[in-house]
Amino acid sequence: MSGADNVVWLGAPAFPEAARHALADSRLRANLRRATGTIRDKRLAVAAELDDWEELRETAAAVKRHTLRHLDHYLLRLEEAVTAAGGTVHWAADAAAANRIVTDLVRATGEREVVKVKSMATQEIGLNGALADAGIRAFETDLAELIVQLDDDRPSHILVPAIHRSRSEIREIFLREMGEWGRPAPDTLTDDPRDLAEAARLHLREKFLRAKVAVSGANFAAADTGTVVVVESEGNGRMCLTLPETLITVMGIEKVLPSFADLDVFLQLLPRSSTGERMNPYTSLWTGVTDGDGPGVFHLVLLDNGRTATLADEVGRQALACIRCSACLNVCPVYERTGGHAYGSVYPGPIGAVLTPQLVGVENAASLPFASTLCGACYDACPVKIDIPEVLVHLRAEAVEAKRRRRLLPTTEALAMKAAGAVLSSPRRLAAVQGPAALGARLLSRDGRIGVLPGPFARWSGTRDTPVPPRESMRAWWRRTRTGTRDEGRTATEREERR
Ligand code: SF4
Repeated sequence: MSGADNVVWLGAPAFPEAARHALADSRLRANLRRATGTIRDKRLAVAAELDDWEELRETAAAVKRHTLRHLDHYLLRLEEAVTAAGGTVHWAADAAAANRIVTDLVRATGEREVVKVKSMATQEIGLNGALADAGIRAFETDLAELIVQLDDDRPSHILVPAIHRSRSEIREIFLREMGEWGRPAPDTLTDDPRDLAEAARLHLREKFLRAKVAVSGANFAAADTGTVVVVESEGNGRMCLTLPETLITVMGIEKVLPSFADLDVFLQLLPRSSTGERMNPYTSLWTGVTDGDGPGVFHLVLLDNGRTATLADEVGRQALACIRCSACLNVCPVYERTGGHAYGSVYPGPIGAVLTPQLVGVENAASLPFASTLCGACYDACPVKIDIPEVLVHLRAEAVEAKRRRRLLPTTEALAMKAAGAVLSSPRRLAAVQGPAALGARLLSRDGRIGVLPGPFARWSGTRDTPVPPRESMRAWWRRTRTGTRDEGRTATEREERR
């Protein structure tokens, strides 16, 4: 299995096709609009409470920049600290290595079941599938992940994986599937949130009490103390992190922070940016193992899976600063209309559009850097100030270049761009084509807009509202109204060219 196999969903259509399909689903769009709007408003309100919000963002961005520049140093320090505290550190170059390590560790315990804390890293490597292949059943315990798992679905949001499901759909899933996985939902189940939560609580409790092995991800790990941190809202994580005998944590290497003190900044930013809360209901921290307190065996699997290659890209590496808060998803006009499945990747939304192509190679996710309007809302919302539009533009150039390399003949678009470059770089050539082009555009126009152009330009023009050019160009207007002589109206370059 390559590292790309689970980051992008094999067989999923490219973004434009998947988005068209999603846009036709009015129930999905209503669910998304309601959910993202609610979280967005909560985030704005709690962020506005802090006078030093912008300073916190600046500090977090600086800490992440520094850490990524010295990642090797801090990872070795983390390994040393975790080992000294009684844990064991494993290094996984890719998804296959990480899955092998975790599977072997679970097998060594003799157990055939694990409980899981919500984790993007284990989704990225397809751990549940790898464990199932080895005869080990993984139970998701986060409520939204449970819904997705019971329905054999895929997550569509980083923080709220079942954001595309309404309460009545969740009720149907619980009634239909819970009995297959353990304690069934009561026949009297309603779609009241309290009822649904209670059914999930009873279903999961027997799993928590039975489990001997837990698998988690990690939000942060402090290199100086070896402390690993998981933040969550429901308490399911706390049960997994404290009740079982063995805890296995899979963590992307970019999650390390230099020191425990850095958590002060990130634990203010993360809950406000993700759920719109001042602090997380549950913040679990552990350092190795402690006699008589929590799991007696702790393994930390440090996952690369394309991160080192991403680090080598000076523009793209900023995506590794992501703390998976999902604020960029909730403000993105594209995500709000298409939902997460359209991205065809474990990482949806704006962060997915910049992270996925880097983890799997831009040629394997070439449509994602274009899944954005470049409006910049994601950059404004990001608590660690990742300039997502900058990375998108950078990756678009790479995607175009990769496509160019694969083709023997240039595309129509490349030829059109080359012709446009030649015209726009010469005032004389521009003046020569401006009149005829404007006339042609007016002839093709309807209702003040240029309609669908013929031939190879049909797809481009068919998705845009291009206004008809005015009868008089700016240059002609300037010459007519602002200058006494024809030469005065010309630019220095034009005058030079005329000479
Ligand atoms: S890119 Fe920024 S806003 Fe988006 S999930 Fe990551 S940290 Fe949050």
